[in-house]
Amino acid sequence: MIFPDLVADLKARMPTLRGRLMANQSLAELTWFRVGGPAQVLFMPEDEADLADFLAHLPTAIPVVVIGLGSNLIVRDGGVPGVVVRLGRGFGEVKVEDGWRIRAGTAAPDVKVSRAAQEAAIAGLAFFRGIPGAVGGALRMNGGAYGRETKDALIEARGVDRGGRLRVFNNGDMHYSYRHCGAPDDIVFTQALFQGAPGDIKRGSSSMPPAAAASKSATRRCRRCTAIF
Ligand SMILES: Cc1cc2nc3c(=O)[nH]c(=O)nc-3n(C[C@H](O)[C@H](O)[C@H](O)COP(=O)(O)OP(=O)(O)OC[C@H]3O[C@@H](n4cnc5c(N)ncnc54)[C@H](O)[C@@H]3O)c2cc1C
Repeated sequence: MIFPDLVADLKARMPTLRGRLMANQSLAELTWFRVGGPAQVLFMPEDEADLADFLAHLPTAIPVVVIGLGSNLIVRDGGVPGVVVRLGRGFGEVKVEDGWRIRAGTAAPDVKVSRAAQEAAIAGLAFFRGIPGAVGGALRMNGGAYGRETKDALIEARGVDRGGRLRVFNNGDMHYSYRHCGAPDDIVFTQALFQGAPGDIKRGSSSMPPAAAASKSATRRCRRCTAIF
């Protein structure tokens, strides 16, 4: 499947854009199962301002889909019409803040949040180690493992709507239920702030049984389907 190339037109409409726009880019390499067709346009914004600028100027008739690490997605062979947004390095920072908090960009893999928490002796965020996605996917899916889930740790999530407006959602605004988030579908989450608790530097933040952690990491290494929500 080859879609009509929209990139030249989009670049002409958005001369100040800094991120990468690619036509007919295969999504197979960007998803867990390594299958599926292309994105009509793949957009990788430089940072949040670039994403907002893009969405504000993108014609409303063009659909937008955001993907994270693609561990909860199966892309059809016909590909995805419109724009697929994938956040990259500019959204990958994980910072420890005062009060046993962690601020994470939504392209950061969940395991990076768990590792940062462990190194800072922050408890309550080890469950992220069990989820093979990135923070944006965890926000959207209310990802969880071993008795804890994103809603148990989230203070607030930040994102950009389809019109390019910056939005901030507190935990209640996310309307979380099991593997579901009730925040508006058009939001591209860009950042999350998580609350942990004082932990033990030796045990780190681990609240996952070692055997479970080992089995989880084996699952991560082999590309099979154990859980798709
Ligand atoms: C082997 C295996 C084990 C798994 N184990 C678990 C588990 O223990 N617990 C669990 O909860 N899940 C599990 N999952 C499912 C999956 O890993 C989670 O749902 C994960 O949170 C998805 O994150 P992702 O970055 O891969 O998102 P993707 O698969 O890329 O996307 C998932 C959804 O999130 C949306 N999304 C992604 N990024 C953003 C963003 N920045 N802003 C807005 N929306 C966004 C996408 O549009 C899509 O709707 C497992 C999957 C596999 C393959």
